Amino acid sequence: WYTSGSLRKKRVAKMVFNNIVVAYDGSDHAVDAVMKARDFALADPEVRIHVVFVTTHPNAQLPASFNNSSFDPEQYLLSVEDVMDLYNRTIAEESEKVKAGLGVAIEGVEDQVTIDVIPGYTPADDIIEFAKEIEADLIVMGSRGLGAIRGVIGSVSYAVLRESTIPILVIK
Ligand code: ATP
Ligand code: MG
Repeated sequence: WYTSGSLRKKRVAKMVFNNIVVAYDGSDHAVDAVMKARDFALADPEVRIHVVFVTTHPNAQLPASFNNSSFDPEQYLLSVEDVMDLYNRTIAEESEKVKAGLGVAIEGVEDQVTIDVIPGYTPADDIIEFAKEIEADLIVMGSRGLGAIRGVIGSVSYAVLRESTIPILVIK
């Protein structure tokens, strides 16, 4: 198709996927997913990787429960500031854990990686919602995660595959 060498070069220099979400649950499978995303990032410095961990940590759910009329911080002798402080500290701690878990999987592309910890109990929906919000063009995830049950694909991967309109790369 392309006879001009320079045009060809321009064509291959750009990544097809520039804004990549990697779903991370702390499993070795998820680390493999991050490492695959790293290959994209190494090939093009414009590529951004958003590592997303959906946490069920109770402290992380606190602000969401403000909207729930049954929750009253004062009932627990805590001010709203205290609760927000607890929330922020928990998110920061969870982020540090993710960072430590990534280790060498993001070596050389650290500047292209951001870590987001999202409170929630529906990881598949939360991953999809986050990916839409940041206008991701690819979601990378492991075929399995922390679950011990044998099988081809985990429930989170399965649900994302079923529901997402954004392309998905499942790492076996
Ligand atoms: P199951 O959870 O159904 O028992 P599993 O743990 O083996 O089985 P999944 O949970 O579907 O399988 O994990 C597959 C992939 O989904 C993981 O490698 C990771 O990419 C993603 N994932 C799973 N849980 C989360 C989570 N809480 N936050 C972000 N990504 C997740
Ligand atoms: Mg799981």
